[in-house]
Amino acid sequence: MLIDLRSDTVTQPTDAMREAMLRAPVGDDVYGEDPTVNALQERLAADLGFAAALFVPTGTQSNLLALMSHCERGDEYIVGADAHTYRFEGGGAAVLGSIQPQPIAQETDGTLPLDKVEASIKPDDPHFARTRLLTLENTWHGRPLPFDYLAEARALATRRGLGFHLDGARLYNAAIAYDRPARDVAASFDSVSVCLSKGLGAPVGSVLLGSAALIDRARRWRKVAGGGWRQAGMLAAAAMHALDHHVARLADDHERAARLAEGLRRVDGLVVKGCHTNMVFVDVPAARLKDLAAHMAAHGVRLSIGYLPSIRLVTHLDIDDAAIERTIDAFASFAY
Ligand SMILES: *Cc1c(COP(=O)(O)O)cnc(C)c1O
Repeated sequence: MLIDLRSDTVTQPTDAMREAMLRAPVGDDVYGEDPTVNALQERLAADLGFAAALFVPTGTQSNLLALMSHCERGDEYIVGADAHTYRFEGGGAAVLGSIQPQPIAQETDGTLPLDKVEASIKPDDPHFARTRLLTLENTWHGRPLPFDYLAEARALATRRGLGFHLDGARLYNAAIAYDRPARDVAASFDSVSVCLSKGLGAPVGSVLLGSAALIDRARRWRKVAGGGWRQAGMLAAAAMHALDHHVARLADDHERAARLAEGLRRVDGLVVKGCHTNMVFVDVPAARLKDLAAHMAAHGVRLSIGYLPSIRLVTHLDIDDAAIERTIDAFASFAY
């Protein structure tokens, strides 16, 4: 069997999840009439402490709708130079929202230094875009941001009148790592985007959370972006099932990632650069990268090579203990 460690997006819906999808009551969500979508939105809003929520197809769209709902044409958002909302979303905020990004180089822990954030806020002057929003990402490349930093950044946003958005694609991984309820991780923010199709294992979907007014604007932009979907309740049912059954087990993914890192540290020629929540990062001599990729493919292991300086390995629902052992063995049988 293939071991796919490229991302936690590659999971197959479980049989129980497919069963839940099959039986879901559905309606036309553009009319607000899909009972399963409504239940998902109400549940997540209540769980995470927000007034309203919007179920959308992807995390990229969820972040885009958030940026377009916080900002208007000619506004600016402050964002990590390595953040998904800046680097990995096709420049959507600028392309589709006429919103200018102000990237800030991140520290190795994923934080944006707050003095640099503050220094980048533009004065109210027609020479400049209007700085409107600060965005963070948690987890970032698997790292949970230092928990106290969330409140410190919140205080800055409040003092300077900025909106505060979290790309919480892996919010629940962060919550497990902090050993805190997810709502505590979301509490500092005006809006949060959560992915259900990463470690939680749903086939499709993200949810944007915020105030009623912000979510009304986001719903409007979702329609404009072609994301007004109809009987989406079958997908919402998968998401509900994931929230019921796949949150606590993220701890297993974190434990397997730690075990994988431990095994790989014993392999000569490999350098384990980091292990955070469900992600392991390893370096090999650049000249051996291509051969290693072929070797691992021949052993039925798929890896993410090329997007980041390091090779990334991500544990998820479809990676069991045997897969961890086989992966370590495959790495160990290569001549670096
Ligand atoms: C995956 C991801 C997204 C985007 O989600 P898609 O559903 O792939 O569009 C956004 N932010 C982060 C941090 C992600 O990992």
